[in-house]
Amino acid sequence: MISKRVSEIPFSGIRRFFELVQKSKDIISLGVGEPDFPTPEPIKDSGIRAIENDYTSYTSNYGLLELRIEIAKKLKKKNNIDRNPENEILITVGVSEALDLAVRAITDPGDEILVLEPCYVSYKPSVWFSYGNPIEVPSTEENEFIPQMEDIEKRTTKRTKAIILCSPNNPTGTVLRKRNLEEIADIAIENDLIVISDEIYEDLIYDNEKHYSIGSLNGMEDRTITLNGFSKVYSMTGWRLGYATANSEIIEAMMKVHQYTMLCAPSIAQYAALDAFKHEKYINEMVRQYDKRRRLLVKGLNSIDGISCVMPKGAFYAFPNIKESGLNSEEFAERLLRDGKVAVVPGNTFGECGEGYIRCSYSVSRDDISEALRRIEEFMRKIK
Ligand code: PLP
Repeated sequence: MISKRVSEIPFSGIRRFFELVQKSKDIISLGVGEPDFPTPEPIKDSGIRAIENDYTSYTSNYGLLELRIEIAKKLKKKNNIDRNPENEILITVGVSEALDLAVRAITDPGDEILVLEPCYVSYKPSVWFSYGNPIEVPSTEENEFIPQMEDIEKRTTKRTKAIILCSPNNPTGTVLRKRNLEEIADIAIENDLIVISDEIYEDLIYDNEKHYSIGSLNGMEDRTITLNGFSKVYSMTGWRLGYATANSEIIEAMMKVHQYTMLCAPSIAQYAALDAFKHEKYINEMVRQYDKRRRLLVKGLNSIDGISCVMPKGAFYAFPNIKESGLNSEEFAERLLRDGKVAVVPGNTFGECGEGYIRCSYSVSRDDISEALRRIEEFMRKIK
């Protein structure tokens, strides 16, 4: 009954792993990819008011114009990207839908799309679903998981249509610096490529690092699709709200798919998010807490014999090296879950170059991080 294409695409490794977690007891989970903070009160209040005021109908296919205007102001101020809210911004059901639409809008069968790995689990499947070929560009710990230009250039062919990148990165926490983005932009311009830039963790950034949008660089305005959303920074994963911005030709093409498949993003979530950009104080406090947890986790991991971890600069993930354990990522994660009662995600879930690593999320309390570290240390002692 099921199409060959869909049958051939594997389920997400994260999903398989979390089925195991659900069956286990007394687990501390560093596996989750979502904030543990509640949605900020004023945003919740706006959502409640939207329901009370019966703002429960479909909105424009593009999304509420008032919200698009707020997003355009934010893009200009924070990302140095100038977009017309009328036809260059599309509100979507999370970045997940925005990614799917972006890939579908630009991909013809057989087109090659470069994915900079390790990367979020949806990138390759979204290309497969569009009958394109995802081409993996690996990166290494030695280079702080920053993609190297020669590795991108080596894989660029006549069939290459686009590059998908993510900064701050899930799962490594790497933040691409301006010069990294400039180099990628040079390749995109030289080879006439589109860049899909997933910036969902843009505000979760530490150590005075700065987030840059590749779409703001010279020559990138018409070849960048910038994706962003409210899930991570605003603790709104369940509200399902994201957005895409690009030139009007691309946004119109994405809107065509969106119109027939989704119609519009949830109206209540859109009303709730209308004033979201005004609530930076909540974000700043969450970032302060994440930063403390990040330091606690990474310092603790580095003090465990057999584990080393690069200090991540963004998002809420650490990506420690577990190669000295002698186990591969999946064995390590499964045994740590079974014997150590700590859930993490095997690094190879995010691409082959993630083998030998695990993803630990620090969107959990400091007490949980301390206890998880104690358990990981004990586990490492036992398997030696
Ligand atoms: N992009 C990245 C890099 C993510 O980590 C996630 C979720 O984990 C998403 C996109 C999906 O986010 P959304 O909730 O906006 O669909």
